[in-house]
Amino acid sequence: MKYLIDKLTSNGSLSKEEWCMLIDRRTSDTAEHLFENARKKREQYYGKDVYIRGLMEFTNYCRNDCLYCGIRKSNANVTRYRLTKEQILACCEAGYSLGFRTFVLQGGEDGYFTDDRMTEIISEIRRKFTDCAITLSMGERSRESYQRFFDAGANRYLLRHETYNYEHYSRLHPENLSAKNRQQCLWDLKEIGYQVGTGFMVGSPYQTTENLAEDMLFLQKLNPQMVGIGPFIPHHDTPFCDFHAGTLELTLFMLGLIRLLIPKVLLPATTALGTIAPNGRELGILAGANVVMPNLSPIDVRKNYTLYDNKICMGTEAAECIEDLTKRMESIGYKIVTVRGDSLNESLGTGHLSKRDRVNIN
Ligand code: SF4
Repeated sequence: MKYLIDKLTSNGSLSKEEWCMLIDRRTSDTAEHLFENARKKREQYYGKDVYIRGLMEFTNYCRNDCLYCGIRKSNANVTRYRLTKEQILACCEAGYSLGFRTFVLQGGEDGYFTDDRMTEIISEIRRKFTDCAITLSMGERSRESYQRFFDAGANRYLLRHETYNYEHYSRLHPENLSAKNRQQCLWDLKEIGYQVGTGFMVGSPYQTTENLAEDMLFLQKLNPQMVGIGPFIPHHDTPFCDFHAGTLELTLFMLGLIRLLIPKVLLPATTALGTIAPNGRELGILAGANVVMPNLSPIDVRKNYTLYDNKICMGTEAAECIEDLTKRMESIGYKIVTVRGDSLNESLGTGHLSKRDRVNIN
């Protein structure tokens, strides 16, 4: 399989059959070869730097009922909370003094945060922190809403596509949600001018190798600036509580593949990776990742933002968390840097793709 990794390294693309073959027939030898190539690509563009993002989980209310998610609306066992504008700004202040230059506002799809409320919050952060990037991660909204947030000063938007395949998507989500609409949101965000992040779960229920191959083809077509992937981890209060978690091994392998597919992409070693293995984030960096996202949310609300079980860093202050991550990264020869850390993967826009091209990846 090494020849397919060499082909991916030099061409930046594989056919669907080749993706399937590479994923299905991977061995520890193939993985080592992959990670070596992935690290070279990552270091060619980003050196040994690791970017940090200050994550603020500003609401755990959500109108949706995704079957894998711990804060889905049907979970009556969640204590719901929303941060006020003042609390969000205080998190930004604290984060700024710790060196964060990107703030990520992440939340469920919460009707309380209307366009007007969000625009006010974004404008205020933009006014106070002119040298910082503002990233939003708050699900599906109308194109008009996305435009308003962009005009107010947001720069980046994270929206995992979760799985490209329509049928697989429908097995993970309630009927009112569709892969088509989610993917359309990503194209809209890109057209507006956001630096766009997408991603998927590894080892989600019913996922096949073919689904992962389709995810890779979709990433190639969308050409996002960021890709966040993490293992599926079951949450005890969801319909998927009895499914197995995705593995560390396959998640790392997919991280390496993504680095070779889009060499300049920003690729986080996610909290979920650190949850399934104590050194998961270090291994993620060694597989080609270059971003970590410490939590800046107030400690007392963190326990209520559990999308999956056993999430790490629930009670650690942001400052301690940075200290810990700095040591972890140094131990593997990398270093945390306090810059905005924009993606070097420039957007090609979407004008070169017809609507049919965007949908059909096969
Ligand atoms: S995955 Fe996102 S949209 Fe779905 S229920 Fe959870 S927070 Fe809501």
